[in-house]
Amino acid sequence: MSLRVYNSLTRQKEPFQTVHPGKVGIYLCGPTVYKSPHIGHMVGPVIFDAIKRYLVHSDYQVTWIVNITDVDDKLIEKANEYGTSMKELAEKHTAEYLSVLKSLGIDQIDRFPKATEHMAEIIKITQELIAKGFAYPVDGNVWFDVTKDADYGKLTNRRPEDQESGTRQTEGSGKRSPADFALWKAAKPGEPSWDSPWGKGRPGWHIECSAMSMKYLGDTLDIHGGGLDLQFPHHENELAQSESCTGKPFARYWMHNGLTRIKTKAASGEWKDEKMSGSIGNVVSARELVDKYGPELVRYFLLSTHYRRPIEFTEEVLSNCQKALSVFTRLFERVDRLGATAATAAEVQGDLGKEVSAYRQKFTDMMDDDFNTAGAIAVMHELAGAINGYIEKSGVEKSKDQTAAVNAAAAVAQLKAVGQTLGMFRFVGQQPSAGKGEDTGLVDQLMKLLIQVRADARKSKNFATADAVRKGLTEIGITLEDRADGTVWRKG
Ligand SMILES: [Zn+2]
Repeated sequence: MSLRVYNSLTRQKEPFQTVHPGKVGIYLCGPTVYKSPHIGHMVGPVIFDAIKRYLVHSDYQVTWIVNITDVDDKLIEKANEYGTSMKELAEKHTAEYLSVLKSLGIDQIDRFPKATEHMAEIIKITQELIAKGFAYPVDGNVWFDVTKDADYGKLTNRRPEDQESGTRQTEGSGKRSPADFALWKAAKPGEPSWDSPWGKGRPGWHIECSAMSMKYLGDTLDIHGGGLDLQFPHHENELAQSESCTGKPFARYWMHNGLTRIKTKAASGEWKDEKMSGSIGNVVSARELVDKYGPELVRYFLLSTHYRRPIEFTEEVLSNCQKALSVFTRLFERVDRLGATAATAAEVQGDLGKEVSAYRQKFTDMMDDDFNTAGAIAVMHELAGAINGYIEKSGVEKSKDQTAAVNAAAAVAQLKAVGQTLGMFRFVGQQPSAGKGEDTGLVDQLMKLLIQVRADARKSKNFATADAVRKGLTEIGITLEDRADGTVWRKG
């Protein structure tokens, strides 16, 4: 099977064919930087980080752009509220956003263009749209005329006349029809503004993305991504103005990720399940989540749901993800204790080798099916199960047979390599930074001592002491596991 991608525009999965063979240009709508990022802002970056890694692994040369919207109504409003400048506010939140991406190991983004640094490109497209009759200036504003674009509404299946209600103020704006949207907005007193042929003003949100995406990726992008909530009006309008300007398709594939939902208990005791959003005020800070749970778990959590489905955020889901992820980390530790190492490229022998190849193929099939990371992770669990089964069946933990130990290590190397095509296992073994500051070396020594005390107590049949040690550790969140080759401990 070769790669197929679900296209929101055609509402079906299509074979993946890029504009230039072997090359992929991805544009993902980035944040409007007026507040600290919440976990919903990380969904797109984590998913597309995995998608880019997988495409690179499939021999594509990928360029991935994420824009920063640093001029906007909300930014101006918040800057006034805090008594700071729009620029300062935007810089502060851009730095926070980049810092969370870094903590999560999202390092595949090639460029973060800022709207305020692309005024020339924005003005040029606006001028072209006026020249071609798709836009009209009125009193320092420039409006896109949706009635001139026969295709308008094709992404979200709407007709301009459907939007009469719910579209903000037509009167006094000089708009010809309510669905017309702003390409350029005349400056109001005290607002940040830029010079333009229509007087001082600033761009509309949608035109920023058209200008930045086409500047870096060409007139036709291979993939345009973003959250489902951006489909309308943002992407519909981006599409209309870009295609009206160039006369070419704007994006080959429109990919929309599901939104983060959160379950919270109301004062009445009832559970509420709602979209996570700044306006509802139920957001979970991305920084706090990464610090508390660590990058490995946050990535696992976001990839273990298919990207088009909503992501349910509850402590319970995270705790289940933690257990699922520990299946891998325990296997890695188990194989480490065998004392053998193997290169990633080392071939796995015998029946285990056949199983590894079959699971690798299954993993590829899942990813080729519209980047089904959830299915791909499920296959990785099957592979982990097969390796654990091999370790048990071969009795290698007792026999320490080198051939079997090397074979198990080679299989784990392949499992790790598969995970790394999704960006997984890059932080394995690292404790979340919230736990940092503990002297981990000292903790290790103390745990060794306690395990020894318990083992000695058991040897001398002092089971009360042995049980007390285990119980006490459980109470502080540490689990002991007795294995053929000794006792190991882990948090959780
Ligand atoms: Zn955008």
